[in-house]
Parts: sequence; structure tokens; C-alpha cells
Amino acid sequence: GTSARAARPDIAERRRTAMSRALSLAYSEPLHIVRGEGAYLYDADGRAFLDLVNNVAHVGHCHPRVVEAGARQMAVLNTNTRYLHASVVDYARRLAATFPDPLHVCFFVNSGSEANDLALRLARAHTGRDEVHVLDHAYHGHLTSTIGLSPYKAPPERARVTPLWELPAVDRPAAFFAEPILGCAGQVVPPPGYLSAAFEAVRAAGGLCVADEVQTGFGRVGEHFWAFELGGVVPDIVTLGKPIGNGHPLGAVVTTPEVAASFLTGMEYFNTFGGNPVSAEIGLAVLDVIEDERLQAHALAMGTRLLDGLRGLNVVDARGHGLFLGVELSSRAEAARVKEGLKARGILISTDGPNEDVLKIKPPLPLSADDCDRFLEALCDVL
Ligand code: PMP
Repeated sequence: GTSARAARPDIAERRRTAMSRALSLAYSEPLHIVRGEGAYLYDADGRAFLDLVNNVAHVGHCHPRVVEAGARQMAVLNTNTRYLHASVVDYARRLAATFPDPLHVCFFVNSGSEANDLALRLARAHTGRDEVHVLDHAYHGHLTSTIGLSPYKAPPERARVTPLWELPAVDRPAAFFAEPILGCAGQVVPPPGYLSAAFEAVRAAGGLCVADEVQTGFGRVGEHFWAFELGGVVPDIVTLGKPIGNGHPLGAVVTTPEVAASFLTGMEYFNTFGGNPVSAEIGLAVLDVIEDERLQAHALAMGTRLLDGLRGLNVVDARGHGLFLGVELSSRAEAARVKEGLKARGILISTDGPNEDVLKIKPPLPLSADDCDRFLEALCDVL
């Protein structure tokens, strides 16, 4: 049903009037993408682009098993969690099994922002305190509460901002939020020992440690299924989003029985869409595909191949783990030029970081060795 619509040349203009201009478009000449498959996107003229941006399409754009799971369940039943249904329980158990003890209790929500908002509520309920600490340049979501945890967007009015890589200056903390590798900050990897020292300081003062795995989770970092494992820590609360549903709006919070018990305040937790059978079946299919296609090991192999190649190029820094990499260039202008140059060669990449000078590599995991080599050649050429 896309071809008739694809021909309409006025889509950009109609978008400007029908939707908020606060929504941005990638590229000065925006792309009109109508189809996705594996690590590729296709525009209305049928041109293929290698997608190094979309960490949401974790197991590949429109993976047939995920599509089938969603379509099958949507044709049978989609309700909230107020009836018994095996899918969401199976899914909670499967998801919890990927975490170390004692992270075994799941809450299902609809986005990464909702997951972090709920984590904030859990931490405040558990500690009876208000104080929250975040890392500088962090992004934790678009809700009123989570924008307040996101120095990436605006200086938080209430959260305390910890400069990289100082220990949080805790007083009576409810929580410390951290991404195990900071995405929006420019794919920044904490120095060895940082996360465990920060967690220790927070816990010594009675606070909870929240790992935001919205970008980094589900095997992307290669060596481990969860990026917090790279830092040798076990958080009190983990928040999940983006890849968890391969594009279906799904998010989750995983915590300990103890923290979960503190939330039993007498007020029901109800989330209309969270944990519905369609979402649960999709979440299960995503876990199946990661396992059956050995995507975590693949992310490690492809990430190593890319890092080896990147370190031979004329760049300021190449860093990251698995298929969550950053390439720091010498300026914002150079990064913008490289992004356009890659687009002209059929490769999509995003830029980020406080100086907008970092290329972010976070593709769908089924990126092939040939895709990696093609990107490295194109980048060398553009540089
Ligand atoms: N946390 C992190 C680390 C993110 O990168 C994002 C989204 N970019 C969010 C939370 C918010 O997720 P969502 O947009 O699904 O609400």
C-alpha cells in the first residue's frame, strides 16, 4: 500500500503543517523510506541504504518471526493484564532468566521513558527519599519526569548531575541512574572500575542503582547480554526499551523482589497496554531470534571487525563494545560532512555527543561482514 503514496511529492510540506515542527528529520534532503529488511532500508525509488542507526530493529527490520508472532496473537486476543494469560508470564520468566540474581521481578510498560519513570517511582517508594543523581550528558527519556533526568536535553532542575567520571556526591539519595555505555553523550565507555565505585558510593548512602539498558541491552555489546555486566556490577533496577520489541512499543523494568515489595503501597499499578499478549508474544519472539541466530556472538564478531578497521583510519577515537560503537572525529563540521558523504554512498549513520562530533554505530544486529567492510571502505573514502 505504499507505492501510490510514495509518489506524492508534497509529503514534507504536508508533514510540516499536519505535525509539530518540534519533530526533526534526518538529513537536509530527507529520505522517504518505505520498507526495511535485515540491516537495510529502502526508499520510495527502491534505493537500498545500509542502516547503521537503528538499534530498535535489533534482530533486523521486519524480522519474519517477530512479524508472524505479532500478527498471529493480534488475530486471537489483545487485552490488558487483568485476566490470566500464559504469554506475559512466560515472557516475564524468560526475560528474568537473562538477569543475574536477585533481578527477577518484571514490570511491563510501553517505552524507555516509561521504564525510567517507573524506576524513579520504585526507587522513591523503596527509600522514602527524593534525591536523584544522573551522569552528565545523559538522556533518560521524554516524559516530564525523565527530561528532568536528562542533562543531554536541558540542565535538570531537580536531579543532581555528576560530571564524568567523578563519583556521585550523594547525601540522602533515592537513586543513581546510569547507562553502562552512554549513548547520547557520544558512545562513551566508563573507565574500568567506575561503575562499581559509583554503585558502592550510592549504596553506602542507602540509595538504589538503576542501569538504563534502553540502548545497550539484549546482547548488542557482544561480550555480555547486558552492558552493566561489562562494568562488573549488579544494579537494583534495570530499565529496558528500544530493541526489546524490535520496533513494537514495549518497555520493561526488572528489579529485585525486595524493591518490588516496597511498591505494594496499596495503590494498584495499572498500565493499559503494558504486558498485553501481543507485546508479550513479540518480546518472546525477539528473545528466540537473538538466541537461535546467535546474534550476541555475531555482534561481538562484527564489532571487533569494525573496531579493528576503524582504528586504522584517521579518526580521533574509535570506541565501544560489540555493535555499540562510536567514532570521534575532529569537529562537528567533519562529522556532518562524513554523514552526508556516507549517505551519498548508501550508508546511514547518526552523529551525537555534546559537540555533535561522534559517529554512532548501532545497527540492526544481522549486519554482515561484507556490510562492515563496505562501511569501512566508504568511511575511508569520505575521510
Ligand atoms: N533511555 C535512553 C538511554 C535512551 O536512549 C532513550 C531514547 N533515546 C530513552 C531512555 C527513552 O526511550 P523512549 O524514546 O522509548 O521513551
